[in-house]
Amino acid sequence: MHDVIIIGKGPAGISAALYTARANLKTLIIGRDDSVLRKAEKIENYYGFSDVISGEFLLREGEQQALRVGAQIVDDEVVTIEKKDFFEVVTSEERFIAKAVLVATGQPQKKVRVENLESFEGRGVSYCTTCDGFFYNNLKVGVLGFKDFAVHEAIELESYTSNITIYTNGKELELTEKSHEECQRFSINVKPIEKIDGSEFLQRIYFTDGTSEELDGLFVAFESASSVDFARKLGIITEGNAVVVDKNQQTNLEGLFAAGDCTGGFKQISTAVGQGALAGKRIIEYVRSL
Ligand SMILES: Cc1cc2nc3c(=O)[nH]c(=O)nc-3n(C[C@H](O)[C@H](O)[C@H](O)COP(=O)(O)OP(=O)(O)OC[C@H]3O[C@@H](n4cnc5c(N)ncnc54)[C@H](O)[C@@H]3O)c2cc1C
Repeated sequence: MHDVIIIGKGPAGISAALYTARANLKTLIIGRDDSVLRKAEKIENYYGFSDVISGEFLLREGEQQALRVGAQIVDDEVVTIEKKDFFEVVTSEERFIAKAVLVATGQPQKKVRVENLESFEGRGVSYCTTCDGFFYNNLKVGVLGFKDFAVHEAIELESYTSNITIYTNGKELELTEKSHEECQRFSINVKPIEKIDGSEFLQRIYFTDGTSEELDGLFVAFESASSVDFARKLGIITEGNAVVVDKNQQTNLEGLFAAGDCTGGFKQISTAVGQGALAGKRIIEYVRSL
């Protein structure tokens, strides 16, 4: 078991790890190399560098620094977080257990545009299999996505129905080997989607090639799971796209913290690093108090 799992290896996650690992907490960071900071070619407003630096440089140095102080880093995508006696952090490949979790996954992106998607929210369109899967017992459901997250959501829906299609909306599947094997039992439709439609509830999905299919429910799991996706499943309070935290970066769920762009506000490296440090400090106290 880990003392803390940090999801995200941008400035917020790495900053927290520097504190927790140096305090001898068993610290695991899970993330991908897709921090938005990678897009920043010239940075000159971050403390301590007289020359202009790149985001790429800061990310590389930060990761090396975290490894040097004893944090472990796994390059993977987290598909869900479950709360049992402890936290269970699930990737497509593994299930990790921790006493505390820090969500530092950056700003959630607007993931997919499909005509009528918003207007059928709560009437056939859902963003949470855990919350709404039950309403689709034995019905025909779709999962909109193309990564491990989508396969994970399809697997969750199997508790309710066997009639499941993964719609990639024109994207190629991007899956780990394990997800690739698991998705063989689902129908996969890679056609670009034109729109969804129905009357009171969702009834059909239409493709740009002029074909259509009946559909009772569509679960959106596009791209990687974001902080908002984790929040929905765990009942964490959000405001818009931002996870709500107290002054110690603690969410309303004990032991679960959030830092950086995923908490909204002033989205800068210095803010992310500062919030990561605060979260790290509070996580050390929290884990020691258990
Ligand atoms: C073009 C551009 C230029 C910028 N220039 C500046 C600048 O000059 N100065 C400045 O201060 N700020 C700048 N910023 C803002 C800065 O990059 C962000 O504020 C900062 O990177 C936020 O850090 P973070 O750790 O919160 O999130 P991020 O840096 O976005 O890191 C998020 C991490 O979470 C991981 N992640 C997400 N979802 C999952 C999942 N499901 N499973 C596993 N891992 C996941 C990602 O892989 C990534 O490692 C710029 C941003 C952009 C886009």
